[in-house]
Amino acid sequence: MENVEKSALVTGASRGIGRAIALALAGKGYCVALNYAGSRESAEKVKEEIEAAGGRAFTVQGDVSKSEDVDRVFKTVKEEFGGLDVLVNNAGINRDALLIRMKEENWDDVIATDLKSDFLTTKAAAMMMMRKRKGSIINISSVVGIMGNIGQANYAAAKAGVIGLTKSCAKELAARNIRVNAVAPGFIETAMTDGIPEKIRESMIASIPLGRMGQPEDVAKAVCFLASDDSSYITGQVLVVSGGLAM
Ligand code: NAP
Repeated sequence: MENVEKSALVTGASRGIGRAIALALAGKGYCVALNYAGSRESAEKVKEEIEAAGGRAFTVQGDVSKSEDVDRVFKTVKEEFGGLDVLVNNAGINRDALLIRMKEENWDDVIATDLKSDFLTTKAAAMMMMRKRKGSIINISSVVGIMGNIGQANYAAAKAGVIGLTKSCAKELAARNIRVNAVAPGFIETAMTDGIPEKIRESMIASIPLGRMGQPEDVAKAVCFLASDDSSYITGQVLVVSGGLAM
């Protein structure tokens, strides 16, 4: 890509929260690398949406839980952008089960995709951002990482780990002017929450002070703030976007 002034990589950008973040960053003038693991068609559609709105983006396949894929993704990002201003670690999965029924592979898959991935991508991004002496890394955690949740021991552990990773990296990278923050969404309307039975959904909404589920765009706005210079004195923080569910 030519004349890239502001660049961002969003992992898991093919749908849901990642898609909304990519569209919002593109709307703010970022050239966006759209990572996905398997959903190529959806990722291409997001690229088309960005281009139709006058923005610039490219898609890059890679399973962010695997170091060889992350290396390939960052090689492509370097070739296209020359550097990187913003990394949004959004890719995530859930494999819910009560603890006593949770399979070891369900634990391992969630820890690899939701936590190890952030270590791999943050390390790669930090190397690029250190050269520029500037950068913003935003990790998508969850209120579940703060509050815990029945049936989500693996997911809660991964998302709590993301908060620890965020704060440690914020301390390590601050001297290089690289900020690292987390966003902890509550109950957001995406494919991840689609399958929740109606009764449980109603009781969850009843426990949200603002009385509604969040939209992916609610999370995207918080990410844009943390990506921008408007948050230039903010690092190591967890911004909760949950309609008051967690406070
Ligand atoms: P989603 O609709 O299921 O989308 C997940 C995205 O992650 C997809 O683009 C998927 O792409 C990608 N992905 C999954 N595994 C990947 C891997 N190994 N490598 C690269 N990409 C991968 O989920 P969402 O609700 O938008 O969630 C996005 C993030 O927000 C996740 O980290 C989630 O934990 C967090 N979050 C969600 C909620 C909520 O209520 N929805 C609440 C709190 C936090 P492919 O289809 O190509 O795999």
